[in-house]
Amino acid sequence: MEGGGGDPSGVERPVGLDRLGGAKMQPLPAGQAEVPIQRLPGESVPERIGRLVQAALAAGAVGRFGERVTGLVGTGQPRDPVRGVVLAGGEVIHAPWVFGADGRSSTVARALGLAREGELAGELALLFAYWTGLPASEWFRMDIHHDHSLVCCPCEDGMHLVVLAGPPSIVHGDRLATYLAAIRRFPATLNPRLIDLAQPVSRLLVAPEPKLRGYFRQASGPGWALLGDAGHFKHPVTAQGIADAVEQAFFVADALLGSDPTLATYQGWRDAHAAEHYEWSYRTARRPVPERTHPRFAGLASDPEAAQEWRDLFTRLRRPSEVYTTERLARWSAAWQARQRQPEGASHA
Ligand SMILES: Cc1cc2nc3c(=O)[nH]c(=O)nc-3n(C[C@H](O)[C@H](O)[C@H](O)COP(=O)(O)OP(=O)(O)OC[C@H]3O[C@@H](n4cnc5c(N)ncnc54)[C@H](O)[C@@H]3O)c2cc1C
Repeated sequence: MEGGGGDPSGVERPVGLDRLGGAKMQPLPAGQAEVPIQRLPGESVPERIGRLVQAALAAGAVGRFGERVTGLVGTGQPRDPVRGVVLAGGEVIHAPWVFGADGRSSTVARALGLAREGELAGELALLFAYWTGLPASEWFRMDIHHDHSLVCCPCEDGMHLVVLAGPPSIVHGDRLATYLAAIRRFPATLNPRLIDLAQPVSRLLVAPEPKLRGYFRQASGPGWALLGDAGHFKHPVTAQGIADAVEQAFFVADALLGSDPTLATYQGWRDAHAAEHYEWSYRTARRPVPERTHPRFAGLASDPEAAQEWRDLFTRLRRPSEVYTTERLARWSAAWQARQRQPEGASHA
């Protein structure tokens, strides 16, 4: 949330939301939000990814699935560009470019000796699992309480993703017991009786707070570039990582095939693209601070235009500073204070 405190409302925690624009947010009581899920008809995310892989293979790419890269040919310095990779079995594959799309613990980044820069941390850890047997829904639901928040998101094949976010301590001790008890404390969003009738179909997935800390690494150099989490990680509560990785792949491909064969513009583009949204993801990943969070949440709930702009943050149609303008923050704060001053029992309409 702009200005801190787990987003205005504390309303956002759209884990699992793809960068798809245009949907309207339901006006709901403070602390809850519903966003309709938009899908590409007839195609699940795994199917879409499979189709991209098939397209690459059909275009002449050679797939070496299940192989592990352990090192690089070349140090990536101007006099010694990266010229290929070494596989776990010792095989060396030569190539004019190496793209490290190998995640947070990138082997490519480590081999290049790249440090993490601009690190940020949130205050949340996540516990989540996939479930079957919950009623079908076209709505992505979020419910934010002071200490914990819940996301319930319909996925493919009749499954739901149920995410608990909370203080770092939720990953200590009996995590499954913590998760199963806590997800029953959001009856307005997920009726506990429905949970009793549903079945978890995955193991409990655990994301401790330290593993959700953000950073940038240098984006490219002689013969190499980093894409996705290997080069930049932001907190997943704002659900930007997958779309960022795909956008970077498109940018790098277009640049190399077009007017920037050395990728000189890549880092500047990536960093400018991440600006504000990176910091916003970590402000969102804080526990709500009532005196800051409530006015903003109430302000968004009362202002359909602002609410849609907030929704558009997730699709990068808007920047946080365009949603949380000084004028809006002052107006929402004044409205909240006036509401607090109303005598007990007076209408809050
Ligand atoms: C708890 C959690 C929830 C998230 N929720 C969302 C969300 O809702 N929406 C969203 O957009 N993003 C979300 N993200 C972020 C998203 O998962 C990442 O941003 C995205 O997966 C990055 O893709 P990537 O390809 O860069 O890295 P990864 O998905 O990590 O893929 C890296 C791949 O490289 C392979 N690899 C690693 N090392 C080697 C090696 N040495 N040799 C060969 N292969 C190797 C790995 O096996 C893996 O397949 C979430 C992240 C977390 C942690």
